Amino acid sequence: MRKYLLPIVLLAVFEVIAVALWLMMDNAFYLFNFSYIGASVALGVFLFISGNKNARRITQLLVGLYMLVYLGLIRGENMQIEGFWYYLFTGVFEAATIHYAVAKIFGPLLFGRGWCGYACWTAMVLDFLPHKVPARPRKKIGWIRYVAFVVSVVFVAALFLAHVGNIERIMFWAFIIGNVAYYAIGIALAYAFKDNRAFCKYVCPVTVFLKPMSYYSLLRITCDHDRCVECGTCRRRCPMDVDMLDDSRKRQNGTECILCLECVRSCPRKAL
Ligand code: SF4
Ligand code: SF4
Ligand code: SF4
Repeated sequence: MRKYLLPIVLLAVFEVIAVALWLMMDNAFYLFNFSYIGASVALGVFLFISGNKNARRITQLLVGLYMLVYLGLIRGENMQIEGFWYYLFTGVFEAATIHYAVAKIFGPLLFGRGWCGYACWTAMVLDFLPHKVPARPRKKIGWIRYVAFVVSVVFVAALFLAHVGNIERIMFWAFIIGNVAYYAIGIALAYAFKDNRAFCKYVCPVTVFLKPMSYYSLLRITCDHDRCVECGTCRRRCPMDVDMLDDSRKRQNGTECILCLECVRSCPRKAL
């Protein structure tokens, strides 16, 4: 039973967050929301430990579809980065601000870019494409993410400065148009670069938060060098070009690890 301790701990952590936010915000939605996400994540970890090859994808679909369809389309909450700026500028600590604080700003100090591996609804679709491992060397165009980041701030700030009416409605349509654009660019880049995760590596503005915070992540892949025979299989299986054999925080593309555990699964020596 000890091997199932991790999913139980994860479920407990999410329940603590769910109950704390429910009581703080006096809103039972937070109890449902974080309990659902916690149960989905714990189920994924449980399935992984049980040897299910699709464990990560199951969690990714459970959380990603919930956020895209239920929170975004049905409840009308813009959970993209523009929604974060919107709630931040209005001074309201709810919806996208809580989502960003937990999943993308402070959470990565604990679980790195687990969001990108197990929950993101953009990657949920991109991971279905055929180029699971990059076929070509990485390009030096990561600066695009900073342009996308600035554009998102300027867009929302301009709506406030111009005193545009009914911003909430605009944010709903921005969520739909933004997602269509993300999917279109993401799929085009995946085929152009033969790399499903090209959008994550070069364009996604959320990585401006995710990368520096995940640098300090508590949860990370490390290598037992006494067991490793340097066969290189793990490196060849990594979708994010991480040098997981280097244990230092400065390792190549260290802030890109999405904790997909493909390297762990592929290691014949169980060294990771
Ligand atoms: S980098 Fe962006 S698009 Fe890719 S998984 Fe993370 S949040 Fe989603
Ligand atoms: S797959 Fe395992 S044994 Fe091979 S290089 Fe990676 S950690 Fe070492
Ligand atoms: S293969 Fe390993 S190092 Fe690469 S992203 Fe997945 S967990 Fe991280």
